[in-house]
Amino acid sequence: MTQLGGPARRSVEVIPARKATVGGTEVRRLLPFGRRRAVGAWCFVDHYGPHSVDGGPGMQVPPHPHLGLQTVTWLFSGNVLHRDSLGSEQMIEPRQLNLMTAGSGIAHAEQSPVEHDPWLHGVQLWVALPDRVRHAPPGFEHHAELPTTGAGPFLVTVFVGALGDAASPATVHSPLVGAQVDAPRGGRHPVAVDPAHEHAVVVTAGRGALEGEPLAPGSIAVVGTGRDHLLLDLDAGSHALLLGGEPLGEELLLWWNFVARTPDELAAAVAAWREGSRFGQVTGAEAEAVPAPAFDPSLLRPPESPPGAPR
Ligand code: MN
Repeated sequence: MTQLGGPARRSVEVIPARKATVGGTEVRRLLPFGRRRAVGAWCFVDHYGPHSVDGGPGMQVPPHPHLGLQTVTWLFSGNVLHRDSLGSEQMIEPRQLNLMTAGSGIAHAEQSPVEHDPWLHGVQLWVALPDRVRHAPPGFEHHAELPTTGAGPFLVTVFVGALGDAASPATVHSPLVGAQVDAPRGGRHPVAVDPAHEHAVVVTAGRGALEGEPLAPGSIAVVGTGRDHLLLDLDAGSHALLLGGEPLGEELLLWWNFVARTPDELAAAVAAWREGSRFGQVTGAEAEAVPAPAFDPSLLRPPESPPGAPR
């Protein structure tokens, strides 16, 4: 992040996606990247689709573990079935939220159902849990109804945290916002945000701009703290993801599907998954669990990304 002028003035950093494949689905991996390890507590952003999954298996992510984070599943089109080691089984559809809190350890699978919608388009996001709660027991929440608010020409659906007069009922553990911004007729408008937050915008369909920087699917735009609004442009029919949060102020170590603080914790989590302890069993997924890749602490420095992460 380049600092320009006074302490509150920072440029817009536009980061291109890297291609990755998750459960047979090609994704645009937008975070983490290089020096940009997180935006608030948002520490992982994959955007996929729209893909035609008509007549194919669709998304097939077999059982895999998570640690120290929350997974946020958000769809623009399609449907995906979540199963986890707490016994949760939940279909998710567009404008609904699946929020899984890994805490001390959980496993889940995400699969297109046998009879699925012909298109799949969505994002998979991770929220790092602050140190004070990251060892808490795991949990799962589904929210079928989420609040919306207007901002000029935009319709904003808030799935995590609060924006304007809309506050999500989802449980989070640091000051955070996650929202879908729709522009049915297009337009440009300053969206009021919390100056204590840093923010990211991903145009997820169509075209747009953040503070005049052009954006399209395949990149993420990041701005630092100190802004009380984000000037957003979206073409008619476009939509965007708006993420923000207070800088966590904690050094995160990401490896595979784990967020921790020390290499020893990561090595212990890999060992636990291999021996079938700690994370529990996902029943009903009818697929072999994903084996953990070999843990190599020398690869933990930027600009690495988790190898072969199934998310
Ligand atoms: Mn996962």
